[in-house]
Amino acid sequence: MTDTLSLGDLIDRQIVHHGPMSIAAYMGLCLTHPASGYYSGTDPLGVRGDFITAPEISQMFGELVGFFVVNLWQQLGQPRSFTLLELGPGRGTLMQDALRVAARAEGFLDACHLQLFEANPTLRELQRERLGQYSPYWSDEVDAVADDPLIVVANEFFDALPVRQFVRVGANWHERQVGLIDGRRVLGLSPTPLPATAMPEAVRDAGEGEVFEANLAATDVMQRLARRIVTQTGAILAIDYGHDRTQTGETLQAIRNHAFADPLAEPGSADLSAHVDFAALGRVAQAEGLAVAPVATQRDFLGRLGIIERASALARANPGQIEVIASALHRLTDPDEMGTLFKALCVHSDGLEPIGFTG
Ligand code: SAH
Repeated sequence: MTDTLSLGDLIDRQIVHHGPMSIAAYMGLCLTHPASGYYSGTDPLGVRGDFITAPEISQMFGELVGFFVVNLWQQLGQPRSFTLLELGPGRGTLMQDALRVAARAEGFLDACHLQLFEANPTLRELQRERLGQYSPYWSDEVDAVADDPLIVVANEFFDALPVRQFVRVGANWHERQVGLIDGRRVLGLSPTPLPATAMPEAVRDAGEGEVFEANLAATDVMQRLARRIVTQTGAILAIDYGHDRTQTGETLQAIRNHAFADPLAEPGSADLSAHVDFAALGRVAQAEGLAVAPVATQRDFLGRLGIIERASALARANPGQIEVIASALHRLTDPDEMGTLFKALCVHSDGLEPIGFTG
């Protein structure tokens, strides 16, 4: 590849040489191509970036996750050594807030081996700055972890993994692909029919033209981590936007500068993501032998962990910030904001009762 070849040119060339590519292949190149992928470049997060996430909205989010993690560690019997792994830690804000709270539990920091899984070199540097005092270790394989108990945290990570799209045509399904017509990128369907039995039970009765998204990269991550946790004990907490039932519906979206963009235009310059199928993730973990807590909305999860009390305490301590705190609380929990679109999933080894999921 020469310096002048853009990611768009590279993709078009691949299509010319090898034929149309799946949405997942396209999405994977757009997001993590080593030279020009969206997540290979600069910091995409925050007010000046393309989107803003819960831990960037308020410290309360990471603090409550810290509380959740300490509680799990206590339920595990306070092991003297365990791995706390964060997937896609972004700017390290969530973990910084979480560990500030967790540090108050005696013995927690001494026992905790912090491990981070991150594709973006710019973000790795930010994580090093923020979390360096906890001596984190970055791994290149998601399940390259020690044999200790394992607690995994992932906020807005699974939505960034590539999805395949299948479209119902007659009795069959056809995979959607990115191709070229007259040099322009267009969506089309693979001519190869896939039988209805190749799709999950829940979408067998889908109507003509409906789209099913399969996030095989996400279920692969889940399976690999679940296999470790079944033998090592622990849990995975995943928070993201998505649905708690496997269903049809096209959710692939491109965001640039806080606005929706065309996913096929300027590859690598916009964030591409898709809603997470929490039911599919839960099924994979269950098949490996883990228990699955009922999926909670972000509103319920944070509410049960005490976000209202935390907001009041913060406001009392910082009277000048009352409006900022109230607005953050609203954004994180209101049904018109992140409250119900965002959900929390916890899969865990037997005998644990993760807080925030019932009651
Ligand atoms: N959890 C953070 C960041 C969310 S953005 C927050 O809530 O603010 C998604 C994060 O996942 C970024 O850190 C991104 O660089 C990382 N990421 C995306 N795809 C990845 C992949 N395939 N492998 C490793 N990290 C990835």
